[in-house]
Amino acid sequence: MRRRCARPGCAEAATVTLSYDYAAATVWLEPLATEGHPMTHDLCDRHSARTAPPRGWQLVDQRLAAAQLAS
Ligand SMILES: [Zn+2]
Repeated sequence: MRRRCARPGCAEAATVTLSYDYAAATVWLEPLATEGHPMTHDLCDRHSARTAPPRGWQLVDQRLAAAQLAS
């Protein structure tokens, strides 16, 4: 299933699912989730690359781990 980037005005296909863990102050980037979820945002490559976590948060990119598992 294809979904579009959640950024207003962006028509690119979503490739990444972004989620926030407020308790852990962590932003997660993961391969696009199969199902959309109200607590996550689907982004295209361009917008996911621009994602910067809020001050004091860490950003964890799970896509590298997923790619290594797949190879
Ligand atoms: Zn986009």
